[in-house]
Amino acid sequence: MALKLFNTLSRSVQEFTPLDPSGKRVGMYCCGPTVYDFAHVGNWRTFVFGDLVRRYLEFRGYDVTHVMNITDVEDKIIRRVAETGSALRDYTSRYEQAFLEDLRALNCLRPHHLPRATEFISEIIELIGKLIDRGIAYRAADGSVYFSIEKYRAAGRTYGQLVKLNFEDMRVGERVKSDEYAKESVADFALWKARVPEDGVVFWPSPWGEGRPGWHIECSAMSMKILGPSFDLHLGGEDLIFPHHEDEIAQSEGAELQPAGRRFVQYWLHGAHLLVEGRKMAKSLGNYFTLRDLLAKGFAGREIRALLLSAHYRETFNFTIDGLHGARSSLGRIDDCVARLKEIAGEAASSKEGAPSQAPGLQARFTEVMDEDLNISAAWGAVFEWVREMNRRMAEGKLPPVEAAAELAQWERVNSVLGIEAAGGAEIPADIIALANERDTARKSKDFKRADAIRDELKSKGWVVEDTPKGPKIKRLS
Ligand code: AMP
Ligand code: ZN
Repeated sequence: MALKLFNTLSRSVQEFTPLDPSGKRVGMYCCGPTVYDFAHVGNWRTFVFGDLVRRYLEFRGYDVTHVMNITDVEDKIIRRVAETGSALRDYTSRYEQAFLEDLRALNCLRPHHLPRATEFISEIIELIGKLIDRGIAYRAADGSVYFSIEKYRAAGRTYGQLVKLNFEDMRVGERVKSDEYAKESVADFALWKARVPEDGVVFWPSPWGEGRPGWHIECSAMSMKILGPSFDLHLGGEDLIFPHHEDEIAQSEGAELQPAGRRFVQYWLHGAHLLVEGRKMAKSLGNYFTLRDLLAKGFAGREIRALLLSAHYRETFNFTIDGLHGARSSLGRIDDCVARLKEIAGEAASSKEGAPSQAPGLQARFTEVMDEDLNISAAWGAVFEWVREMNRRMAEGKLPPVEAAAELAQWERVNSVLGIEAAGGAEIPADIIALANERDTARKSKDFKRADAIRDELKSKGWVVEDTPKGPKIKRLS
């Protein structure tokens, strides 16, 4: 069985075959955050999707190089920098730090490379120079450089690989300076934007005069520099298909750095958007959440991650606070099952090798459905079916320690993809642990009144303590 993925280029589900002749190494580029504000939960759906793809490729034995850019110069950032009067780096570093903290809170593996656009200006200038040399880009009177769609098409290339475009109404040489525009306004787009007074001090020298790069060229330059001119996978949210990714293809293939017959990217994967409480997110609708907003409401990163991962990545998904409560209780069921398996496995946990394998076990079922374009909802289905089966066998006393250990080993493999580690110390806030310890001390000194008061306080904060033969266990109230 092979892994299959939906490729936006072919609009079909295709078997995944890496470019590496040994079939092992995989290059993957995910369009990263524009660090002008805190990322919202919609952005996080897309980034967690990228993490899922990486983790699943690793689970399937591939050696992945994961690149995620940090867009730290573009139109929105320049506007904010001018409004706040801050230095570019001071402004963006705050949001970049926040992004990395959020990435950890959601248990996303850190990409191997996190290039910042501002650190690739010379590569960007070099790439624009190549396009000018090939006659595909031109300098306008104001010193900006544009990509000529007409010249690109005249060179036998296709503009409109990811989307169907109508060139009938397009007037040759018409230009669009903004990085974001609709399909209907397709026109020559900016590679280099000449300095204007509103840019303040954000500009770099270039052979075409002072200015700054356009957003699209940043990703072409950074991805090809780190992964080479032709690589396996490129990911982003569905809104990036046009113009961002179409323009990336045009710039990268227009420079003709790929070996003959090779594309810039073999597989383009796009995640569908997230709705929040049934609508597009908007501050005015009160459904706009950053990750921090949700953590402040008392939800854990793993609960948010589990909810973001609950639907297939190509389905629009409705994120609700009720859904988060649902994710909490689902995780609670997994945690309870895994904790009991651990108790039974006990000493046998260290002798996994000798464990008999169950056919078809959790891992096999999980792989079977995930191979089908990452069918995560079926994967969760397999996990909960396994939880029910384990619970039944444990209740009937039909799960010997050695089998419990084997089941746990399978769960750990599956969880290396899901990334929802069982609630451990790291997930329990320090003040909650301190309270639980205080209660334990009170109990031991027979101050039951105090112990009960602390139990109530914990409850009001959303936690319960269970006294087990191995000591108190802290759990979230579900
Ligand atoms: P940005 O920081 O605006 O460049 O966006 C970062 C990523 O989030 C991009 O891949 C977008 O496609 C994605 N994105 C933006 N809004 C949403 C949403 N509502 N749901 C899912 N992904 C989104
Ligand atoms: Zn990009």
